[in-house]
Amino acid sequence: MTTPALLLDDVAHAFGARVALDHLTLAVGPGQVTALIGLNGAGKTTALRALAGRLRPTRGTARVLGHDPATLPAAVALRFGQAVETPLVYPELTVTENLRCAALLHGLSGRDAAPAADAAVGRVGLDPWRHALARTLSMGNRQRLGIACATLHRPAALILDEPTSALDPQGVVLVRGLVRDLADDGTAVLVSSHHLDEVARIADEIVVLHAGRDVGRLEPGGTDLEQRFFAMVLAADTRAADTRAADAGSPP
Ligand code: ATP
Repeated sequence: MTTPALLLDDVAHAFGARVALDHLTLAVGPGQVTALIGLNGAGKTTALRALAGRLRPTRGTARVLGHDPATLPAAVALRFGQAVETPLVYPELTVTENLRCAALLHGLSGRDAAPAADAAVGRVGLDPWRHALARTLSMGNRQRLGIACATLHRPAALILDEPTSALDPQGVVLVRGLVRDLADDGTAVLVSSHHLDEVARIADEIVVLHAGRDVGRLEPGGTDLEQRFFAMVLAADTRAADTRAADAGSPP
């Protein structure tokens, strides 16, 4: 692989006694879509927060376009997009105003910001709400707006946390198309999801996360993805139980 645009290298993180990430290593190269899939509490958001610079891992290294996400140089931040947790939108601005702001904040000129915002409205299907205040949007439409703000500058690296969790089927199709289009243009994408069939359509690689660990990879084009996912999760739980039993039985 060429230099990874997104990198987690041996990353571990604990919240007190709770281990959220356990030696996770993954790299996403330009033009690649990697999906993080796992049950509730598997550690997906924690991994993305480490890349968003919102959490300093207890151990290991996170890199965005070769830089520490906590101290991204401004020029690098302009080439990064993220929609992690709450959409980063201004509630008292309209949809179009939010998008123009996002365009300016991502380095587009005043002249380019308006057409970029208009194009983004269409790409995520927000035309009927273009003049609505963000605070009046439904949850799904707020999610569409957050994704549009994170992507309208066509970033070189993009992280999306459950980008379709609140979307209707039309929104899911639009976001899938948007992600694939960006990747085909060279964007490195790391996306978390619960939905195997959805990520299978856009991902080049599927990383299965369980109890903070990478417990295996799924071939996106493969069959019986769900069955193989649960087999990996079960095998990881069995290994963990065996290790605990061996530790309990070993002499002090
Ligand atoms: P979901 O699919 O439910 O969003 P997830 O895979 O994104 O889950 P995380 O949110 O990364 O999982 O959580 C991983 C683990 O870390 C969980 O056990 C969670 O309870 C714990 N955790 C996450 N954030 C905190 C926090 N701020 N304080 C304490 N524990 C936390």
